[in-house]
Amino acid sequence: MDPVAEARVMAALEAVDAAYSVLADTCTDGVGPAFRMAVAVRLEAAARHHMGLSYRVAGEICDPPDGPAKRGVKARLARELRVNRSEVDRRAKLAARVRGRRVGLGSDALPPELPRLAKALREGLVGEAHIVEVCKALDALPRWVSPVQKSWAEKKLVRHATKQDPAFVAVVGKALDAMLNPDGVFDDRDRQARRAVTMGRQGPDGMSKISGYLTPEARAYFEAISAAVRPGYHVPDTEQTAVDATTDIRTPGQRRHDALVWGMRTALESGNLGAHRGIAVMVIARTTVQDLEQAARAVADQSVPMPPPATTGGGSWLPMRELIAMAAQGAMPYLAVFDGHSERPLYLARGQRLATADHRIICYARDRGCTRPGCTVPGYGCEVHHAPAWVPDGPGDADKLFFACGPDNRAEAVGDYETTVTAEGRLGWSDGTGPPEVNRIHHPEELLAEDDP
Ligand SMILES: [Zn+2]
Repeated sequence: MDPVAEARVMAALEAVDAAYSVLADTCTDGVGPAFRMAVAVRLEAAARHHMGLSYRVAGEICDPPDGPAKRGVKARLARELRVNRSEVDRRAKLAARVRGRRVGLGSDALPPELPRLAKALREGLVGEAHIVEVCKALDALPRWVSPVQKSWAEKKLVRHATKQDPAFVAVVGKALDAMLNPDGVFDDRDRQARRAVTMGRQGPDGMSKISGYLTPEARAYFEAISAAVRPGYHVPDTEQTAVDATTDIRTPGQRRHDALVWGMRTALESGNLGAHRGIAVMVIARTTVQDLEQAARAVADQSVPMPPPATTGGGSWLPMRELIAMAAQGAMPYLAVFDGHSERPLYLARGQRLATADHRIICYARDRGCTRPGCTVPGYGCEVHHAPAWVPDGPGDADKLFFACGPDNRAEAVGDYETTVTAEGRLGWSDGTGPPEVNRIHHPEELLAEDDP
């Protein structure tokens, strides 16, 4: 506790609020363009000061200088700020790079990893996009670049960041890379550190953008499979492996896409991928008998409308036409069919059944993802949570099993949340500050049905 500092901070925040009110309430219709430009500059500088302070506070919350961090503090911060959990992680990570760390109260702070960026942030001289470019350029340098060279690179980048726009800083980053690593020498650990595949959000047309960096090994596999999908070979929607090459009008990019599909489907069908949380690795597609029957008729009869898409265990949607096509491929290790009324699974096609498989499938049907209100983790990322209290030797009643992601499952286990089964058979969560609530984020139809106050 430091009452003097607390009083100073509160007084300053009150003054900021008061200033915002004045700014918002003052008409600027007649101030003229030069004044307006000066105001824009001041507001941008203020926003940057603000951001620097937000990073500092986020860093101190996640790693307090005056005591150990409380459990679940990042999740709590995300809830309080109404920002995505990944945003809190991002801020905490950056804060850790620009903060001096104290090992104990009263001890001297160790210098931050990026001291010049820290200073520019504190002085409100750089914006979010500047920070991204500075970090991107520094992180692109290979491991063998010496600390002295890295420090010099940081100095150059930050100096330009305080004077130029982010695009300019990106150019400086490229120049530094060319100068410090002219031959593009990276060792295996550099490559492993950079490997990543990013899958963008599913668009309204159902398509997803992917990007990333493949290791030489990953590229070798992809090249080998892509090479086999040469013109005429492995054309989708054909029975035979090869067709006349002259009738194959796919672009090289389309063939690479088909190679990826073929490789992944072959791996799934092989049954060699083992188990994921108790059931064989497979695509879980959730649909109802009613929709499936209608889709089967719609494929044959154009006058029958296609029912709404199926939902996957990853939280994406899969058009029924494609689902039927996947089922028609012969091997179908990946379809879970539910009765539309009871939401009980009727049929789990060819999936390897382990003792708990059916319970998990029921969770896919009812919960679709983590049940903690506001949590976006889809079914594939969830553990089965036993509610209210599970007796290891007791009956494995599926009505007492619910989806929860790992962090939320553990947070409940240590008492951060209390869970109860609601009258509608869903799992309600409370952190003690209000009544239990259910998670509607995996049930968009419920989100839209909620009444506005
Ligand atoms: Zn969760």
